Amino acid sequence: DKVYVNGQIVNPQEAKVSVFDRGFIFGDGLYEVMAQINGRFFYEKEHLERLQSGLHKISIDFNANLLPNEIKKLLRAVRLTNKDCMLYIQITRGVAPRQHSYPSDITPTLMMYSVPKVLPEINMVNAHVITRKDFRWSRCDIKMTSLLGNVMLNEEGVQHDCYETILHRNGLLTEASHSNVFFVKEGIVYTHKADEYILNGITRIVVIELCKSLGIEVRESAITLEEVNMVDEAFLTGTSTQIAAIQKIDEHQLYIENEKGPITRKLQGAFLKLKYK
Ligand code: PLP
Repeated sequence: DKVYVNGQIVNPQEAKVSVFDRGFIFGDGLYEVMAQINGRFFYEKEHLERLQSGLHKISIDFNANLLPNEIKKLLRAVRLTNKDCMLYIQITRGVAPRQHSYPSDITPTLMMYSVPKVLPEINMVNAHVITRKDFRWSRCDIKMTSLLGNVMLNEEGVQHDCYETILHRNGLLTEASHSNVFFVKEGIVYTHKADEYILNGITRIVVIELCKSLGIEVRESAITLEEVNMVDEAFLTGTSTQIAAIQKIDEHQLYIENEKGPITRKLQGAFLKLKYK
């Protein structure tokens, strides 16, 4: 296993970043996670476009078009070319004496690593989830490395033997600690709109497109906390989560054992076809 740091591919114990890196001091950086499936990165273009758009939002001067070539070098070095694996990319603003404002002359730090991982064909998890107040900031559209809010909210779910924590803000269900959330009510699929309160997941976008192509009505409109007890189906989406059926939300049991709803099943089937297209 090797790590990519600023153009060098080295052993993890030799990979070094300054303690004055703004990623370390402020969490001033972004990340991406992509899955290589069947020899290609799943929706690579969309992931890299989201990264570029995030970099633009926080004024980090880095050209994401440089990444595919660097990714190839890394994968070759760790012998994962065309193999099923997960890739983590992190770009921070760079190293400078500590001051809040953006330093004018600064070089971003690029770190990447890849680990072999074969994702299950379909996510077999029947997730139990809890709902919690979304106390994160209001720029959740930025995929930043400062994930303390997500980490604390996820931990609370884990403490309750749950797979995820789904979040609500102003009475509306937004997303989960590391995935997006969808609900099905009377045959219609609902998910929070892509504004500043959620990360617009690539898997979320794919699932919305799948709904449209399957003729399933989909609305980018949030479910309220009160409505949660009335939904017929619910599922989570994310790069490694894929599409995971939710079995229980707080005390509301949607299914018993390994059952799941017809729309969740249909979308999982269609997603599987996309993966191996
Ligand atoms: N929402 C949050 C907060 C996330 O951290 C993630 C993934 O890391 C997602 C949603 C899902 O995004 P994607 O489908 O692009 O992996």
